[in-house]
Amino acid sequence: MKARVIGAGVVGLTSALRLARAGHAVDVVAAEMGNATTSSVAAALWYPYRAYPEADVTRWSATTYQVLRGLASDPSAGVRIRLGRELFRCIQLVPALGQARILGHRVGLRPGRPTVRLETEFTDRGPVVHCYGHGGAGVTLSYGCAEDVAELVSGLS
Ligand SMILES: Cc1cc2nc3c(=O)[nH]c(=O)nc-3n(C[C@H](O)[C@H](O)[C@H](O)COP(=O)(O)OP(=O)(O)OC[C@H]3O[C@@H](n4cnc5c(N)ncnc54)[C@H](O)[C@@H]3O)c2cc1C
Repeated sequence: MKARVIGAGVVGLTSALRLARAGHAVDVVAAEMGNATTSSVAAALWYPYRAYPEADVTRWSATTYQVLRGLASDPSAGVRIRLGRELFRCIQLVPALGQARILGHRVGLRPGRPTVRLETEFTDRGPVVHCYGHGGAGVTLSYGCAEDVAELVSGLS
């Protein structure tokens, strides 16, 4: 099936990847790419923060965690497993970091809403699978939500 993904942040790109792996012909269309997206500002820690509903967030986060754990075994993937307390103690562990020069500041809004919207809407121009509103946890939920997006898209054929 042909699928057009709108958005090239972590949610759009992960959905596109998952859909492509399921055999769909995928286009990605986005107003902004790469460094211009909120996703590029994310700390990219796995941590379910400010995203709802809780039951789905737990499920999506667990799926993403499994995928990230798998990626962590490949050094080229850039995924590292570290305990949270190690990160918070990084200046004690590497004191030189306390003197590090700040090269720049980036800001981004956490795209929050009461709950993540992940559902199909049937419009006059065809079905639209919505997947947005991941708040402070878009990275954490990405692979889990992409699974559900792929399942909804597969159900359309
Ligand atoms: C400071 C900060 C730190 C964070 N840290 C973490 C973290 O550690 N862990 C974590 O899991 N999450 C974190 N987050 C949250 C995470 O960054 C977001 O939940 C996530 O980036 C949302 O991804 P997205 O793909 O939905 O949105 P975006 O990255 O904003 O991408 C949206 C895409 O849609 C496109 N688009 C939008 N409107 C249109 C339009 N009308 N037409 C065409 N294209 C359009 C944009 O151009 C862009 O390509 C953090 C957020 C911030 C701000």
